[in-house]
Amino acid sequence: AREYDRYTDRTPNSADVAETLREIVPAGVCSTFRAYDPHPVHAERAEGASMFDVDGNEYLDFALNNGTQLVGHAHPTLTDEVSDQLEDGTLYTRPSELIGYAAQPLVDRWDAIEQVRFTNSGTEAVMHATRLARAYTGREKLIRMEGAYHGAHDPALVSKMPPVEQAGPASDPRPVKESQGIPDAVPEDVLLAQYNDPNSVERLLRDHGSEVAAILVEPACLNLGLVEPEDGFLESVRSLADEYNVVLIFDEVKTGVKLAPGGGAEYYSVQPDLVALAKAIGGGYPVGAFGGRRDIMELVAADLQEGVATGAAHYGTYNGNPLALRAVGVTLREILTADAYDHVTGLAEMLADGYREIAADAGLDAQVKHVGSQGMVHFTDEPIRTFRDWEHIDEQFHEAYWISMLNRGVIPHPHDASQQWTVSVQHTAEDVEAHLEAFAAIADDLAA
Ligand code: PLP
Repeated sequence: AREYDRYTDRTPNSADVAETLREIVPAGVCSTFRAYDPHPVHAERAEGASMFDVDGNEYLDFALNNGTQLVGHAHPTLTDEVSDQLEDGTLYTRPSELIGYAAQPLVDRWDAIEQVRFTNSGTEAVMHATRLARAYTGREKLIRMEGAYHGAHDPALVSKMPPVEQAGPASDPRPVKESQGIPDAVPEDVLLAQYNDPNSVERLLRDHGSEVAAILVEPACLNLGLVEPEDGFLESVRSLADEYNVVLIFDEVKTGVKLAPGGGAEYYSVQPDLVALAKAIGGGYPVGAFGGRRDIMELVAADLQEGVATGAAHYGTYNGNPLALRAVGVTLREILTADAYDHVTGLAEMLADGYREIAADAGLDAQVKHVGSQGMVHFTDEPIRTFRDWEHIDEQFHEAYWISMLNRGVIPHPHDASQQWTVSVQHTAEDVEAHLEAFAAIADDLAA
């Protein structure tokens, strides 16, 4: 309670802005996940590793807009290039060479990507990859992992939120709608497996294989904090997809370019058939992409006549807009270099090691993980391997930790235990030390 009072005292202007906004914008936010009690901190500006709020507080930002800002905030190279682009025009109707400027690094980074198309978000990227898999196979069902988040379109919203009791036993999980307004037919075409349990995928394929178009999976689950694939999981899923002629889609919206230059596919050495990308590829500008095997991607342009194809539809006014393409090209070619990966990986390891040490000294149960630029802490002595392990996480306790960190000028990760921290190319060892000092300052209280 003391920390909540302190939070309220530090953020009176944010409280005022929230109240005004709530009048004309539901919950005062544009993505419902961003609303939290008593009111969110409202940003004024951000630069480098820092975010400044409307009350004049500075925060070391390790949330980085759910990791979109792997390059940090307002990276000078990116800002210069995108400013140039503003002067050269932002939308042309006609395609331009910028498409290749942005596409080539994705083709170079992913063995699986022979062709790629751009979208405006991760939701669109996953939606188009899924439709394409259905078109390619002529089948409709989708296997996905229970509790994973794949965006805000209908088939993506049938697993995560509801109380676990509604979702049936772990061995036979049921898709449950997470939103009103989703037609009944949507969950009927979704089959849920458990992450890290290849047998659960195999069972579904044995029973429904001839109806399954795709297996959709994040190579590492970055919407359960940070859950890595156990040895052999991704390999088994790959070979099952081959055996049943099912398209394997990696949702690399979060893992892409953050675990390694070529995402989870490179990091875990398993290549999918299609990849969905967004977030960090654009350095913070809104963009997504889906790409993969040529014979599948070509269906997007099958029997093309007068701009209409008979394969899988992919249209969009803002797809591949010059601002986003310039941002992707600069981010991937000039900023996220091999040195940049060494830098963020080293700092993420330092952060995770520090958390382990501080938690152990304070006698706090903590699961601390990191991969590439990503990391996360969960305050439990139980390992988190699948969605069902989520019951070990005390969300209120986690919330208290999060608010207490904000009170000490650090946003440790986005608001929710299901998220993770990102270390950007603009963060320094001093920033990581300051993050750890803030955690050390609250660890004894948390343990009490
Ligand atoms: N897929 C994954 C794994 C995500 O984490 C997200 C967003 O958090 C999405 C898809 C949807 O991306 P967007 O929010 O850009 O629509």
